[in-house]
Amino acid sequence: MKTPPLSHTLHRQHLRVTGIVQGVGFRPFVYNLAQSLNLSGLVGNDNQGVFIEIEGDFTSIEHFLEMLAHHPPPLAHIESVSRTAQEPLGTTGFTIVHSQQQPDAHTLVSPDLCVCDDCLAELRNPADRRYGYPFINCTNCGPRLTIIRDLPYDRPLTTMAGFPMCADCQREYDDPTHRRFHAQPNACPVCGPRIWYVRDDTTDEQDAIHRVKEAFQQGKIIAIKGLGGFHLACDATNNSAIQTLRERKGRVDKPFAVMLRDLDAVRRYADVSASEEALLTSRQRPIVLLNRKEQTGLSPLVAPHNHAIGVMLPYTPLHHLLLDDTPLVMTSANYSGDPLVKDNDEAQQKLSHLADAFLLHNRDIQVRCDDSVVRVIQQQEIPLRRSRGYAPFPVHLPFPVKPILAVGGELKATFCVTNEQHAILSQHIGDMDNLETLHAFEDSVAHYLRLFRVQPEAVVCDLHPRYLSSGWAERYAESQRIPLIKVQHHHAHLAAVMAENGLGSTETVLGFCFDGTGYSPDHTIWGGEVLRTTYRDYQRLAYLKPIPLAGGDAAVKNPYRLALAYLWSSGLEWDEGLPCVQVVSAQEKRILRRQLERGINTVLTSSMGRLFDAIASLIGVRHSVTYEAQAAVELESRVDRSVRDTPYCFEWVESAGSLVLDPSPLLQSVIADLRANVPVGVMAARFHLAIADMIVQIGLHFRAKTGIDTIALSGGVFQNATLLEKTIQHLEAQHLKVIHHRIVPSNDGGIALGQAVLASVL
Ligand code: ZN
Ligand code: ZN
Ligand code: FE
Repeated sequence: MKTPPLSHTLHRQHLRVTGIVQGVGFRPFVYNLAQSLNLSGLVGNDNQGVFIEIEGDFTSIEHFLEMLAHHPPPLAHIESVSRTAQEPLGTTGFTIVHSQQQPDAHTLVSPDLCVCDDCLAELRNPADRRYGYPFINCTNCGPRLTIIRDLPYDRPLTTMAGFPMCADCQREYDDPTHRRFHAQPNACPVCGPRIWYVRDDTTDEQDAIHRVKEAFQQGKIIAIKGLGGFHLACDATNNSAIQTLRERKGRVDKPFAVMLRDLDAVRRYADVSASEEALLTSRQRPIVLLNRKEQTGLSPLVAPHNHAIGVMLPYTPLHHLLLDDTPLVMTSANYSGDPLVKDNDEAQQKLSHLADAFLLHNRDIQVRCDDSVVRVIQQQEIPLRRSRGYAPFPVHLPFPVKPILAVGGELKATFCVTNEQHAILSQHIGDMDNLETLHAFEDSVAHYLRLFRVQPEAVVCDLHPRYLSSGWAERYAESQRIPLIKVQHHHAHLAAVMAENGLGSTETVLGFCFDGTGYSPDHTIWGGEVLRTTYRDYQRLAYLKPIPLAGGDAAVKNPYRLALAYLWSSGLEWDEGLPCVQVVSAQEKRILRRQLERGINTVLTSSMGRLFDAIASLIGVRHSVTYEAQAAVELESRVDRSVRDTPYCFEWVESAGSLVLDPSPLLQSVIADLRANVPVGVMAARFHLAIADMIVQIGLHFRAKTGIDTIALSGGVFQNATLLEKTIQHLEAQHLKVIHHRIVPSNDGGIALGQAVLASVL
């Protein structure tokens, strides 16, 4: 009997899978799937993703492809699967082949993920060999970005390289049916990293966890080495511990985040909706801003003058071991403004004045990664700080772009590298106003360029001449002999929101960009802008009436100076009955008035952030600030939510082809309300409604004039959930299409994305 030619019965396909497909259990998934369908072939990683060859009958191959597309492993994120038919080879068996490195190819890296339920069950099982082991992980969970030195993602190229696996761990690692097959950070108490406790000159390795808990009870502050850096932690119910932490850190009022053991604990301390619960328990485990409940035993010093509280759940096995019924303050370990501390020696040097004791470990942190911060409005996640758990997950762009390095701005800095349709936004770097942070930025940039194999064809920065990032970009462009592109701050904000919402290269929006500070082409400070915006250019349709910012920093730190400047600019008296006037000495008033009248040491600003500051002081909520946006945060916190109408209003004045939005009538109404003893909450509400209402009115006006019906919202002012929520509701009620940030922050942490997209289009 003659056997039919192989090709009649057998088919062979070469597949290439891209996306986040490494370090997420993809190869064992493929292996087990192929085995179950009796397909032969191979699977492997390279630095473009995963390649697969499968051979077998037609139906099984189709079934395989169907499973691959619709039921991949939980942490995988497939971007594309391409297939090519090949001649069947008559192979038998399925194998996982060694990683193949192509030096210049681009692939993606998974963010760090919280410990999974399977690992957690083992952590708590006294019979398990990893019982109580703080570094338990598997292919479905654990560290990624923070331990990866280079790609492909293999143990020798991670900070686990120095921990050879014991026989038991190696067996799991080699077994394609095991949850730890090729889990690169796989470890156990025999072979893996370890923790130890240091207080004064004594070290305790046996009882480290117990010693830390004991110290919490004594009101001590502990520096704890985590996933992406150190935290400073203390008992969140202990006033004097938190007071000490604030004094040592030089952090007067800025809220601290707390870590709570589980959702039940969260419900005790805060109101939490279903979507907030989903975020708290998501594998990114961000800090979620929640409405705080009163009288719960949590220290008021955690978040003074603030109704919101930042809460996160434990995300590493170590956190699970540390958390019991005591809620913990968990704040980034650094002095205000400095980068996060990540190494043991560095910690013992720099944190010795901040912490009473240390919980250290010997798994190195390759890159710093702060906790992410989000809040929820209308069941949607709004990012405020996009870092651990999110970075370096790519933003998928609506069109392919050139390889670009965008260096971002100054505050809440991030940078962005692009490759084809991926924009990879870095984790939060911090406020880039000192050299230490600049060095941390530089390290991270080098790491990303190497990891993602990006050779920038241009570098892009903000127009601001004095940003450290802009100076760095200039030097970098020169040394690499590539063009330097400067992008206007608010154009970058709006391009970011357009790009993350998938707007194509020919779209036009009415962009409302409201923030604190952005350098403008006319050398003033913008920040209350309505821009007709495309990826190629923008036109200033309207803006908040500029006021003189007298004394720069002094004005930003002292909102009463802004309130007085606004009154002066609107021709209103500095009436001694007003709270913002009462707090100023006669001498300061005299000097300020002279500065305003003569324009001495002043710069004009149309910043909406400054209007929020001024109103906060005018109605007596906050006259001086100790952290950025404090006045606006506290103003929002005071809003009486039962007030739904009667907004204050603006006057519109035509000037040189643009509309100028003059808040004089708004200020007059506030003063009238103050005199009538209207409650602060009502005034705060009427102010928020005024901004939302003005956006809708201006939106309708320009829709009628230009036919553009998409409103884009960006800029730090839209971190204000009350404002954002009202604005979206009111715009949608008028059938205006609205896009806002859901992937990157609306604050300056998002502008690197916009810069990168603009630079590649311009
Ligand atoms: Zn796991
Ligand atoms: Zn081991
Ligand atoms: Fe900004």
